[in-house]
Formats: sequence, C-alpha cells, structure tokens
Amino acid sequence: MNLNEIVQSDEKYFMPVYGPRFPLAIDHGKGAYLYDIDGKEYLDFVAGIATNLLGYADPGLTRAMSEQLGKVVHCSNLYYFEPQARLEKSLCELAGDDYKVFFCNSGGEANETAIKLVRKHFHDQNKYGILSLRNSFHGRTLATLSATGQEHFHTGFTPLPPEFDYFSTIEELKSKINPNLGGVILEMIQGEGGVNPLEKGFVQNIAAVCREHDILLLVDEVQTGMGRTGTMFAFEQYGIRPDIFTLAKGLGGGMPVGACLAKSHISFKKGEHGSTFGGNPLACAAANYVCSAVDEAMLAHVREMSEYLFAKLQPLSPRGSGLLLGFSLEKLNNRDFVLKALEKGLLLVTAGFNTVRLVPPFVITRAECDKCVDIIFEVFDELSQELF
Ligand SMILES: *Cc1c(COP(=O)(O)O)cnc(C)c1O
Repeated sequence: MNLNEIVQSDEKYFMPVYGPRFPLAIDHGKGAYLYDIDGKEYLDFVAGIATNLLGYADPGLTRAMSEQLGKVVHCSNLYYFEPQARLEKSLCELAGDDYKVFFCNSGGEANETAIKLVRKHFHDQNKYGILSLRNSFHGRTLATLSATGQEHFHTGFTPLPPEFDYFSTIEELKSKINPNLGGVILEMIQGEGGVNPLEKGFVQNIAAVCREHDILLLVDEVQTGMGRTGTMFAFEQYGIRPDIFTLAKGLGGGMPVGACLAKSHISFKKGEHGSTFGGNPLACAAANYVCSAVDEAMLAHVREMSEYLFAKLQPLSPRGSGLLLGFSLEKLNNRDFVLKALEKGLLLVTAGFNTVRLVPPFVITRAECDKCVDIIFEVFDELSQELF
C-alpha cells in the first residue's frame, strides 16, 4: 500500500478519533530515527509520545522480547511466572519496599486502578471523591476522563460521575475539602496539558493538606515516570512520596504495560480487581529490560541532554524537566509548526493549546539535539515570515 491507499483505508474504516493524522506512514525505526514506507528518514523527538525510551530496534530490548516470544507470550494471572516476579521486585525496590504493585496495560487503566483503590480504601467512610488539577490529563476511561481537568475532553460524554471535581490553587483545594473527598491526583509535570511543571512548594502544600485531612495523594507518573524527567520518578524531585502512583508510557519501552503502585496498607483483596493481559510475560520481559537499561548512567545522560537542549532553546523560553520539554508559540499555530518540522524530517508533538513538546528517546546524542534545534529555528523563521 502507498501512503494514499493507507489514508483512504483509515478514512473508510477507522473511527476518526485521530483524523486527519500527520501525513506519514511509518515503516520501521532505528535508534532515534524513523523511516517511512518510501525510505525517508525522520529524527524522532516524539518517541511514540514519551514511550520509546530506548528508541527503535534497541538490540537488548529486541533480544529480551524475542526470547520471551519464543517461550510464552501470555498465560493468565491464574499462574505464577518469573518475568512478572522480577518486574514487581524491581519496581517496588525503586519505589521503596512499603509499596505493592498491580499490573495492567495502559496509563488509563493504571489510573482507573488508582481511583478504584481510593474507593476501596475508604469504602466504609464514604470517601469516594477525587480532586484533580485543571488542565490535567489522566486518561480516556470514564473515570480517568472525569478526573481529566479539561472540559473539551468531557464534551459529548456528560453526565460525568458526580464524585470528580477540579482545583487550581491551594486555597481552592482547601475550599473543596469535604467529608466525602478521598483522593487528590496530580501530574508533577502536566504533559498533555502543555508541559506545565508544578511548583515544588505547591506540591508540598498539597501533600500537607492531604495528610492533615486523611486524603490519599495520587501521582500520575504515566508520562513522567521511568526516568523521563531525569530521575526515575518525577516526585523524587518534589520531596514527596505519594500514597499511590501510576506508570505506563515508558515502562515497556513501547510495549503496552501499565502499573499502579500503592503503599501496602492501601490494597485490594482477592477478587476485587484484575486484568486478563495485565503484566503478561512478554510485557514484563520488555519492562524488565527497560528497568535494567534505565540505570544511573542513562539518567545522567537524560539530564545532560536536557541541559544541552534547554541552553540551545533558550530564545524560545523552554520549560519542563529532563527530556519532557516544551515551548509556547505566541502567534503561530502548534499543529502548523509540527507539520512544517515533519516536512523537514523532524518529528515533534503538540501539547495544550499552543505548546510544542519534545519527548525524545533517552538515547539521543548531542548531534541529534543540534539537528533538532536547527530545524526548530528554521521552522520558526519560515512560519514567522509567512505570517508577516
Ligand atoms: C498518556 C497519559 C495517560 C493515558 O495513558 P493511556 O496509555 O493512553 O491510557 C494518563 N496520564 C498521563 C499523565 C498521560 O500522559
């Protein structure tokens, strides 16, 4: 099939939730590069939206997954299997051993699990309410959609469950405390919302309010986790330890896998939750490899590339942390910007209303950062000229 035929098929058969997509049909990738079906090369600063931490066709990840593919892909959580045992140990050791984990397949499911845990934990006290920040993004299931503090995601799906509400400031949080409130959910850096890092003092104040009122603090690390912000989990930089936190995007290095970790006194009992595919042997084999690859040296590289990009992008006032960076466009449209960069062989992704986001694989080099920044400034100049 050529690009045109693929586009036509998508228009005819696929629900148009992503359409029209960017005009690119991917064939394969290598390192930080993707290749389309005509062999054209793209430097990829999207990484499957903050997912492919090790880039494409990483030899170690390919080997780990291939070996598992030849053994067993899926066998159900009716049984024990070593890849899952290794992953649960690794993640709980990274988090601190007072956590326990549950595996699922996506970020939405991980947050859904977290919200169900709040309900379960406080069931006898009727504390089922969830507060989230305006401009947040927590997923597309009905509960996580409701926790997403952006109205345009709600359009067409109302009435939402009534136990969700939103806040922006610490005063507003305090004003919304009520006997039915069970949890507050936060992203340390709002990814989809426009790469908006929360201030440390704000997060610590929220944590204090939660402690004082016996409300659970949930941190959504679906986008920020697994080293994306330069530390294994972004909350480490905020001096807090959440009661519950979630992982997905980067965890499998591109393989779908999600996780919900909670302090061990916050848990389900037998039969209260589950997943057919969650934490299957293949997903765990991928995640185990990612856990071993994202070591101190890799995190140091993330921080180094981050500083380098920050310095070079200074004229655009970048924000973010690690390799989750963004800059706002004042007069230009962010989708036009991303499209123009794509034509020049650089993949970027939009966020929020006017933000361009950079979430490259961790394996990028200085030379690749140079190339990315050069194209960004070229695009900026060309689009600005068209405007004036
Ligand atoms: C992407 C994302 C989700 C949803 O993850 P899915 O795997 O698409 O369900 C939830 N929370 C955050 C912060 C995300 O970035």
